[in-house]
Amino acid sequence: MKRRQFFSLLAASAAGLMTLSPRLWADDDENNSTSSSLFAIPGNTGITGHVVIVGGGMAGATLAKYLRLWGGTHMNVTLVEKSAAYTSNIMSNLVLNGQKSLGELDYSHDVLSDHYGVTRKNAEVTAINAASKSVSLADGSVLNYDRLVLAPGLDFDLLPGMNSLSEYDTHIPHAWKAGPQTQLLRDQLLAMPAGGTVVMTIPKAPYRCPPGPYERACIMADWLKANKPGSKVIVLDANADIIVEKDNFLIAFNQTHAGVIDYRPACTLTHIDSISRTVVFTQNGANQQLAAHVLNPIPPQRAPRLLADAGLLNSPDGHFAVVNVLSYESTRTPGIHIIGDASHTTQPKAGHVANQQAKICADAILRLQSGQQPDPAPVTSSACYSPITASTATWLSGVYQYDSASASMVLSKLSASTGATRSNYSDMHTWFGTLMQDTFA
Ligand SMILES: Cc1cc2nc3c(=O)[nH]c(=O)nc-3n(C[C@H](O)[C@H](O)[C@H](O)COP(=O)(O)OP(=O)(O)OC[C@H]3O[C@@H](n4cnc5c(N)ncnc54)[C@H](O)[C@@H]3O)c2cc1C
Repeated sequence: MKRRQFFSLLAASAAGLMTLSPRLWADDDENNSTSSSLFAIPGNTGITGHVVIVGGGMAGATLAKYLRLWGGTHMNVTLVEKSAAYTSNIMSNLVLNGQKSLGELDYSHDVLSDHYGVTRKNAEVTAINAASKSVSLADGSVLNYDRLVLAPGLDFDLLPGMNSLSEYDTHIPHAWKAGPQTQLLRDQLLAMPAGGTVVMTIPKAPYRCPPGPYERACIMADWLKANKPGSKVIVLDANADIIVEKDNFLIAFNQTHAGVIDYRPACTLTHIDSISRTVVFTQNGANQQLAAHVLNPIPPQRAPRLLADAGLLNSPDGHFAVVNVLSYESTRTPGIHIIGDASHTTQPKAGHVANQQAKICADAILRLQSGQQPDPAPVTSSACYSPITASTATWLSGVYQYDSASASMVLSKLSASTGATRSNYSDMHTWFGTLMQDTFA
């Protein structure tokens, strides 16, 4: 493939157009053998280097794939992921009403190594040494890099009154990372009595997946109406109001699930007892206490300790890593890029956005490795579907464009569905399948 042709495809791909034409590379380059549903990797594009990626979730898996797909066989990519497989958070609220199993949300990284030629290490990265351009792994090995990309997702804070993070694993699952806690929350809903009380809490923004907690309240309310009549879902939101898709969620709370969802804004948690499942909070200056049969506290979130130890967390609250959104390179440490939920940008912390950021980052790294500058006008998009019942959903989408005056991604278009419909619910599964295929296949 000619170099000029390659870079024009690169630009189109970074805008997300590549996903519309899965056979593009395969049809163009007959020298590469590939299965008909996978992209073919170009040979030597003239771009070289070694990129180490930490975390094979929505951001890291996409980046690994696209660095090889656009960079070719001389771009060495190593993906370090501590889990054997990835469990999708997206759609994990549907485990709570029995529409999905956790197994259905598992995604393998095999195609990244077997087809795209990514080197994989199933290990945890324990330290970053920017001076020597290396990372240390829990198995004692050290990996050197030309560029490091951190895509490790989030860590969760303790809430007031808690002594250990293990309380989330055993008594009060947050289930804000899909896995055993999601199953525990499902089991607790199955075991609670009819007429019982579920209390969920929402942290102050920014948190992962802005509509996710409201969506979860709806899914649980819908299931409880049919399976545990007379039950309630009390939502204690630390934010002053519903922070996203307000019109749709007001209809859901006040009409669709009227009498079941009790939404209370501006609540400050002061104490949680995980054994008695009791919550103490203040609202409008008044102290209140609630006891729950099922307590689902969604904790405040921050980038993992690994980044804090490396001095990368320079957002105003010190919880996330500020990046140059032309390349996702840390504004603190050159040569280290941060994508996905761990980064601090104006875009929401969402899987669709993590996938988009990974493509912008891949494009920028390849340009930088070939002595060019990153694309000066990147565009990203975000789409999110929220199931409101077992057969209806709403949606929200946003387009972000680079604004050179503020050096940030600015929301240029925001659209939302009008209420929840069955056709949105069907589109949701198509959107999810396409996003996961673009990330893991
Ligand atoms: C209930 C729920 C519903 C959601 N619904 C949507 C939705 O509808 N649409 C949407 O766009 N987003 C949704 N999200 C948000 C989405 O899941 C996240 O924004 C997205 O997963 C972030 O991607 P990431 O790559 O930054 O992190 P993750 O996907 O969490 O991946 C991080 C990976 O890094 C690995 N890792 C971490 N530390 C290390 C280390 N030190 N060494 C090696 N590996 C490490 C982890 O094991 C993990 O595999 C939802 C989230 C939740 C909780």
